[in-house]
Amino acid sequence: MDPITAKQEKFIIENLDFFTKTLEEMAQIPAPSNHEEKRAAFVKALLESFGCEGVYMDEALNVVYPYHCQDAKEIYVLSAHTDVVFPDMEPLPLVRDGKILRCPGIGDDTANAMAVITMAKYVAENKPETKQGIIFSLVSGEEGLGNLKGTRKLMETWGNKVKGFVTLDTGYGGMVTGAVGSTRYEITVSEQGGHSFGNFGRPSAIADLAQIITELYQVRVPVKEGTKTTFNVGIISGGTSVNTIAQNASCLYEYRSDDLTCMSYMKNCFEAIIDKAKVLHSGVDVKIVGERPCGNVCGDLQDKWIQMLLDVQNVYADTEIVPRHSSTDCNIPLSMGIPAGSVGTFVCSGAHTRQEWLDTESIPRALRTVMCLLNSWLA
Ligand SMILES: [Zn+2]
Repeated sequence: MDPITAKQEKFIIENLDFFTKTLEEMAQIPAPSNHEEKRAAFVKALLESFGCEGVYMDEALNVVYPYHCQDAKEIYVLSAHTDVVFPDMEPLPLVRDGKILRCPGIGDDTANAMAVITMAKYVAENKPETKQGIIFSLVSGEEGLGNLKGTRKLMETWGNKVKGFVTLDTGYGGMVTGAVGSTRYEITVSEQGGHSFGNFGRPSAIADLAQIITELYQVRVPVKEGTKTTFNVGIISGGTSVNTIAQNASCLYEYRSDDLTCMSYMKNCFEAIIDKAKVLHSGVDVKIVGERPCGNVCGDLQDKWIQMLLDVQNVYADTEIVPRHSSTDCNIPLSMGIPAGSVGTFVCSGAHTRQEWLDTESIPRALRTVMCLLNSWLA
């Protein structure tokens, strides 16, 4: 992998001021998951001001710039998310502290969104030839409550042509190459209930649910080399008073894995326990409250894609990049058999805390790295 050209280096240096100023402005725009309206509008206007043709916003509040995609048979995606975990609807507090920028969401994922935007600017201004179509996307709903809404919508629209997906997320060295999937359930038990003394002997929703939970905790997670599978009951509630046989009880249960066969093993175990419980107790009900697919159906294609991403990062890296598995926007393409990886480029810290900060001295290297990635897609 070659370093960027002198012309590209010049572009980056000339745009550093623009980058920092726009980053400071965008970082303050509130964008809790499912309320990215203001930030999406800001991004769309910005891209249009560069002359990016065909920019659109969809109903998920994704802002998308398809470049050379019209007749393309193959498309690569460069993405970052606009939402932050902070519920604020007021401007987020930004403080400049020498070379450090402090603001909730600055590294996760505002700076990365700016990197995607800067590449879109480069392409709009220089109109380079490409080997395939490229989509620059600023997507909504990556964080918890968003349930990957933005990327689901993006892949619903373009997925049949997408041959590779990269999301820029979190900080330098934070590379994610495999998807941890999760399925989350609410289990509810309802019984007739009654007085604890007068109606003693009637079934209790709490006792029934406790029995189900005990069974869930008897499950042995599958042991398969290079994979990890977990489960948890995280919340339990129910009952009325100490002298009432409980009418209702419910809990939240999830299992997670980075392996598809382990996920279906956990699903089978869960369903067997629930089926048995339904025979034993009258009012057992199960609702899925969250579902993030896990990947690992791309085999060799994924290995090649990850190697390409490592080669790109190694051009300017000063430490070893160690990939890990996590839940990111990559879960969606990976579950469709499309190779995908998440790459962090800026030096930043404190993601998901109000103390989050970014080292502005890391901006040039981050932009050089993302430009290298872009180069691998240019003709
Ligand atoms: Zn993120």
